[in-house]
Amino acid sequence: MRDNLSPREQIGNLSALPASREFFGKLRMAQLPNNGSLLKTRFCQARSLVILLLVCGTTALAQAQQPKFKVIVLAEASSIHKPFVDAAKVWLAKESIAGNFSIDYIQNTEKIDGALLSRYQLFLQLDYPPYAWTPAAASAFQKYIEQGRGGWIGFHHPTLLGEFDGYPMWQWFADFMGGIRFKDYIASFATAKVNVEDQTHPVMRGLGASFEVEREEWYTYDKSPRPNVRVLASVDEKTYVPDSPLKMGDHPVVWTNEHVKAKNVYIFMGHRGEHFQNQAFTTLFRNAIFWAATS
Ligand SMILES: [Zn+2]
Repeated sequence: MRDNLSPREQIGNLSALPASREFFGKLRMAQLPNNGSLLKTRFCQARSLVILLLVCGTTALAQAQQPKFKVIVLAEASSIHKPFVDAAKVWLAKESIAGNFSIDYIQNTEKIDGALLSRYQLFLQLDYPPYAWTPAAASAFQKYIEQGRGGWIGFHHPTLLGEFDGYPMWQWFADFMGGIRFKDYIASFATAKVNVEDQTHPVMRGLGASFEVEREEWYTYDKSPRPNVRVLASVDEKTYVPDSPLKMGDHPVVWTNEHVKAKNVYIFMGHRGEHFQNQAFTTLFRNAIFWAATS
């Protein structure tokens, strides 16, 4: 496709236009014997045309290479979730080329401040927990979300809300997630059906009425976030294989908080790298990126 020509190929095409050495040669031969100043004028006009074409071509090329949006990914560096994060990086690399967006990764919150976040249209929290953030990072993130400076997608750990690893609960984050507190999880995993509750929402496009998710931990919380968020999908606990006594009843797994300005999606599923072989999961991820990153 022409839009995908490499810089070398595009410049090659420009040089094939009449403004070439051959063109100048013909011009010189035709004009030189009779009128030197006319030749000089024509030559200058032709040279201007070449410069204009080159400038326009270079500008068009620069525009074609500009990413549509920039994503900053806060990725959990080393844990049992590394296979998920690693698989996400491979998938995102391909998607960023196909979708023309750029990705930068950070593995802790030390560099996060307002200046850093201002360069990104989407903050992707890849299995990174909502605790042990620097105060500057927490403050900048809160502003980013509340003031809608960019979008947000969080997978799995952002609802690890409570006292973990010696850190207190980040109450603002708990409210962002619908006023919930983490309670338990199915450590032995269960496969289950996820019901799409809002097929009209852009994040759920193409997913149908339900889809299956293999072997997840299905976190439970002290209460359903539903009163405080817009639920997009919930897990049908009756379909757990194997069955588990850990049940919430109303059990949302994908939702968005419409009380903040940032377009945001929380997606619970995100423990195993094999999710990237599940077309429903990758569709959900892709939809979320393009919805949350664009205003
Ligand atoms: Zn997990």
